[in-house]
Amino acid sequence: MIQASAVPQKGEIDIDPKYRQQREDLLALCRDHLPAVDADMIRRAFRLSYWAHRNDWRESGEKYVSHPLRVASIVARDIGLDDTSVAAALLHDVVEDTELSLGLIEDEFGATMANIIDGLTKIEGVFTSQKLGQAENVRKLMLSMATDLRVILVKFADRLHNMRTIEALSRKKQLRKASETLNLFAPLAHRFGLFPIKSELEDLCFEILNPEAYAHIVERLEEMAEERDAYIAEFIDPLAEHLEEEGFTFTIKGRVKNVYSIHRKMERKNKPIDEIYDIFAIRVILQSDGPKGKEDCWRVYSLVTDLYKPLPERFRDFISVPKSNGYQSLHTTVFGPGGRRVEVQIRTQEMHEVAERGVAAHWKYKEGTENVDEEMERFLEWVRDLLENPEPEEATEFVKEFRLNLYDEEIYVFTPEGDLLTLPQGATPVDFAFKVHTEVGMQCIGAKVNGKMVPLSQELTSGDQVEIITSEKQSPSPDWINFVVTHKARSRIRKWTNEERRKAVELGKEVWAKAKDQAGLEISDQDLQGVAHDLKFPDLQQLFYEIGKGLYDPDELVESIKGTQSDGAAPDDEEVDEVALREQYEQFLDAAQQTEQQALVIDGEVQKDLAVNYASCCNPIPGDEVFGFVSKTGTVNIHRSSCRNASDLLVNQPDRILDVDWSHQKDVQFVAALRLMGEDRVGMVNDITTVISKNLKTNIRSITIDTEDGVFSGTIMLHVSDLEHLKRLIKRLKRIDGIQGVYRFKE
Ligand code: MN
Repeated sequence: MIQASAVPQKGEIDIDPKYRQQREDLLALCRDHLPAVDADMIRRAFRLSYWAHRNDWRESGEKYVSHPLRVASIVARDIGLDDTSVAAALLHDVVEDTELSLGLIEDEFGATMANIIDGLTKIEGVFTSQKLGQAENVRKLMLSMATDLRVILVKFADRLHNMRTIEALSRKKQLRKASETLNLFAPLAHRFGLFPIKSELEDLCFEILNPEAYAHIVERLEEMAEERDAYIAEFIDPLAEHLEEEGFTFTIKGRVKNVYSIHRKMERKNKPIDEIYDIFAIRVILQSDGPKGKEDCWRVYSLVTDLYKPLPERFRDFISVPKSNGYQSLHTTVFGPGGRRVEVQIRTQEMHEVAERGVAAHWKYKEGTENVDEEMERFLEWVRDLLENPEPEEATEFVKEFRLNLYDEEIYVFTPEGDLLTLPQGATPVDFAFKVHTEVGMQCIGAKVNGKMVPLSQELTSGDQVEIITSEKQSPSPDWINFVVTHKARSRIRKWTNEERRKAVELGKEVWAKAKDQAGLEISDQDLQGVAHDLKFPDLQQLFYEIGKGLYDPDELVESIKGTQSDGAAPDDEEVDEVALREQYEQFLDAAQQTEQQALVIDGEVQKDLAVNYASCCNPIPGDEVFGFVSKTGTVNIHRSSCRNASDLLVNQPDRILDVDWSHQKDVQFVAALRLMGEDRVGMVNDITTVISKNLKTNIRSITIDTEDGVFSGTIMLHVSDLEHLKRLIKRLKRIDGIQGVYRFKE
């Protein structure tokens, strides 16, 4: 460690005249842009930096000290805060890169300077750890920087100079630096209101990350420059004349958007550059201060709109309601010559400086506060407060700003630990899970994006922080194949599904063999195939699969076969009847549901006004285990938990699931449908209706009976109060002479 006594004093080191000159240029910049300049402090800082870095070189081959010198120039000119930050810029790398200690800085320049340099050294560590990107981390980072605002301001200047000289780095390093800068520094600079720095950072990054798109836009801008300049002059000249007549002191010019903003606009609007109308904006800056300034802006607005017709919906008053970074201006879009839309921004010089230099400009204009530190402390308090207790809107915006849209075809998302993963556009949490690890993908049951539960099928966006929820009991759902986009996820899901299917078919065969033996049934594979077909299974495999998965009751199959065997064949017209029946049933359900809504308790509250629909795939009645699923239109669909769509909905769209209970209102009746099969005999219908209406005081809504060759099949729709009621009814019906089966109607 270097002792203070080892540092050469004034005159003891030879400074290359080239750098001596640069030091004097820097001082001149300071005098131009800063309220007060301690030239001695800046010279001492330069000398110490020059000496400390005497053996260091930039990748470009220049002496290292050229870097802190340029950084200090940026701080002086583009941020223009104070001389302490300029001196800090000169010293920003000495503790990090040389043997100089923080203690030495403190001895030479005091505690404030040491604190800034310490902050700069620590930030460097945070940025190189690659654990950033998450809003929460960024917020923490900003908090640590918020001990002295000058830390982050100098850091911006440092990064800007590094980006300006990035060609000296390898392509790989360039890409890493550029994406980090676009992801973090540019939005942060925006947050701090440093508009020119933010814009330049964006363009430098964009040029590295997407050279073709960058070159294309730059080329088109150049080609269009002449025409654009002529148009701007045509727009400005009559306006400037009016403003002069009214006695304003002002500057007015056309400003072209930065390349990256144009690119984003093209992407957003999906239009070529020639169709983007607001590539430039006209900016009027008034030399008018204080309360009169605001008034003058409105007067100018009135003059502008006298001359050019405004689009009323494109007006923003950022003067009365400044942006959170302090930005103030009036924005209006008017129809210029030839009916072209032109954005006009009107502000005072004071507002302009805030717009360009953000927070640094804030206290320059505060009257009566000579003490920069005091004013800064007040600002930092505001920053800390904002970061610690962000308004919900503020927080979302904050996260949004960290979203990047670098490439069409790729997105960048973060793990909860802040690690960056690259995924193709359109990727979903399932793709993310498989990318993290095959096991994570296989056991994925849900996902949180930016802390919120989302459907597993939701498309991810750059900047999203994704957390996968896993369960050892979970296995991939075959439906995932419909929305995953990565090869890995696709192939793993497919492999698993095929294997599962094979296992389920095997199991189904075993289960069926047992059920068949128990029932004492004999049936050939060919006949079974026929039965499967009659039961609307595409093939035997599917029948076995559904039995294996427990989706189809083998006893039901036994009943069906007994039915066909006693008869020799299934009724030919069954299909037609089923369709007619279902329509009739659904119509009835529609009508009946009007009266049924009050019986539900959703998420602990009795729901009366909610639009509720009883899913026609499973027709739940009270007593059934149910859940609610919020449809896109806001209707709550009630499904039985055993519904074959249930696992799909529960697993894939958990955030749309509601807890539903049945309330205990016995007077409410529900619709259920039963399917009955048996012998056709005289008095059968009468027996059935008697059991239903007399014994159990159940209202029959409709009854459909078909008989053919002595076989009877019927469907009864009735009102029941709950599941118990229905079960009792089924039991009674089964006792009727000649009835072979009673089933609850499923579809
Ligand atoms: Mn540096």
